[in-house]
Amino acid sequence: MNIIVTGGAGFIGSNFIYYMLKKHPSDRIICVDKLTYAGNLETLESAMEKKNFKFIRADIADRRAVYRIFEQEKPDIVVNFAAESHVDRSIENPEIFLQTNVIGTSVLLDACRKYGIDRYHQVSTDEVYGDLPLDRPDLFFTEETNLKTSSPYSASKAGADLLVMAYHRTYKIPTTISRCSNNYGPYHFPEKLIPLMIINALSDKKLPVYGDGKNVRDWLYVEDHCHAIDLILQKGRVGEVYNIGGHNERANIDVVKTILKELGKPEDLIEYVTDRKGHDRRYAIDPTKIHTELGWEPETKFEDGIKKTVKWYLEHRDWWMGIISGDYQTYYERMYDKR
Ligand code: NAD
Repeated sequence: MNIIVTGGAGFIGSNFIYYMLKKHPSDRIICVDKLTYAGNLETLESAMEKKNFKFIRADIADRRAVYRIFEQEKPDIVVNFAAESHVDRSIENPEIFLQTNVIGTSVLLDACRKYGIDRYHQVSTDEVYGDLPLDRPDLFFTEETNLKTSSPYSASKAGADLLVMAYHRTYKIPTTISRCSNNYGPYHFPEKLIPLMIINALSDKKLPVYGDGKNVRDWLYVEDHCHAIDLILQKGRVGEVYNIGGHNERANIDVVKTILKELGKPEDLIEYVTDRKGHDRRYAIDPTKIHTELGWEPETKFEDGIKKTVKWYLEHRDWWMGIISGDYQTYYERMYDKR
């Protein structure tokens, strides 16, 4: 099988590439990535050594480039991870989110239409469902929950999902969509909650926590997400949406305290900062469908996953030190230091 993985130089895409190279060594993986600020070729260094791996730098919204890649590589499967993925950046500048997440997805779907494909898989997010109130722990997102987005990021991801469904219905493209909760693990870009807190704590810097810190996220170890996507590719029903989540809800402040404890750092490093605009209160996935239909369940407990993640950041300082200098520093100062 020839599998195009877009956005494979980012966090989840790179973990998926390593997962697939190990699990399906006879498949050929072609990573297509624009290498935005969030993409990092160093992440793919070990993959580059494999004969069945190829990296192509391209923008998924560049129609000519994408068609050329389809002509040359003849993919059987496309898994689309490529996206602008950071909510805060989408609040500052929504346009690039529409360009990559919506137009980029439409170009990939057009290429599938033109050249044919066995499966197009869209990696989506639980954020397309909006949020749930904190005082209703009985409520969960199912695949039938209405799309009700809060940020330009989630709106662009919902737009992409709707296009995928439309291309399936109108052009009979064999599509699947997965909507996953928050991931954590190795190669996570330092602007996101868990790596940001680990890195700041390691440097004895303040840990900026939005609002009252009580916003709840449903955390999943990235490898469990990769396993779920692999199962959907193998056994998932075409035209379907699958929610992925591990019933592992935690308030942001509790996640931050767990990290501090793990690193032996004091809680007075925590600094509450002005809340994110439109900040979603609670996300919680009901993963019954993927569990009953495909037999998926998460294998990594949060307590173990967070230990592994902290250890990874301790052992890979070169990886994140390279990122947090330069442009990232300017972004960080704009977001947190000047509040
Ligand atoms: P990321 O920001 O770490 O990586 C995104 C990758 O896409 C980068 O390598 C970047 O260079 C690439 N990219 C961006 N624009 C591109 C373009 N126009 N053409 C080609 N490549 C481009 O993101 P992530 O956290 O790994 O998320 C991957 C996917 O999973 C996204 O679609 C995101 O919406 C979804 N998702 C993420 C989470 C999470 O917790 N991180 C949860 C659910 C779903």
